[in-house]
Amino acid sequence: MDPDRLVQIATRKRRPDWLKVRLPSGDTYFEVKRLVEEQSLHTVCQSASCPNIGECWNRRSLTIMILGGICTRSCRFCDVPTGRPLPPDADEPRRVGEVLSRLGLLHTVITCVDRDDLPDGGAAHWAETIREIRTRCPDMTLEVLVGDFKGRTEDVDAVLAAGPDIFAHNLETVPRLSRQVRVQASYPRSYAVLSHASARGATTKTGLMLGLGETLSEVEEVLREVRDCGVRIVTLGQYLSPSREHLPVARFVSPAEFSELRALALGLGFAHVEAGPLVRSSYHADGQAEIARAARKV
Ligand code: SF4
Repeated sequence: MDPDRLVQIATRKRRPDWLKVRLPSGDTYFEVKRLVEEQSLHTVCQSASCPNIGECWNRRSLTIMILGGICTRSCRFCDVPTGRPLPPDADEPRRVGEVLSRLGLLHTVITCVDRDDLPDGGAAHWAETIREIRTRCPDMTLEVLVGDFKGRTEDVDAVLAAGPDIFAHNLETVPRLSRQVRVQASYPRSYAVLSHASARGATTKTGLMLGLGETLSEVEEVLREVRDCGVRIVTLGQYLSPSREHLPVARFVSPAEFSELRALALGLGFAHVEAGPLVRSSYHADGQAEIARAARKV
């Protein structure tokens, strides 16, 4: 057997109690599931095997993933399948708008797979989706969680021009581990995307997974850096390895450490911080709707 694989298996860790969740159930959960299936949509909640799916869907909170269910990248933490995706589905923006108007949400998050096969990385499809949502759900605040568009600022601008309330792009990890975790991405490029969007006046947000081998002082350094480039919202959650083929968990960060990091980040001046073992970038994102709504009035 491949020695790397042996090390991975040997180092797989049992999840502590604070990461145990119930199997999803409940009427609202199944209602949301039915709606998503009926409209042939993808959600990151399902594709990324998110542990919060039961809780979130029962609160009618979900994260739709546009541009298909196959990603052109192969990040070593992510459970979304890698491959050659189909061309963008021109009817998808309408269906996304339809589902969101039927759910009657106050706030939602839309994300996408990376589409390095498209000349604009999917920016035009993004803009169309945002416009469709705006038309059908004018009062709902919208967060877009986008990829790095290979650093092309014109594609970032195309998304911003469609008017999302929150522009999110995840750094995922600290600079030292970035290449190992996100093989086709880089920390400087992601940082540049966030800086660019912030400089354009967008309300920006980023997220880090902890437990990949970073030190807490590296996390603090990243928080200071992103604060300095204008990011206002940050999420910090525990990395969970989706399978034996993915990067193993280096350690489980305790709830007390997450609380300390939250206090630290708030002390640095972020407008909103979600930090905890089960936090994902879209977890409790509706709690940020007020920040988004305030930004609309500026
Ligand atoms: S945390 Fe985000 S991805 Fe996970 S179930 Fe909730 S909305 Fe979906």
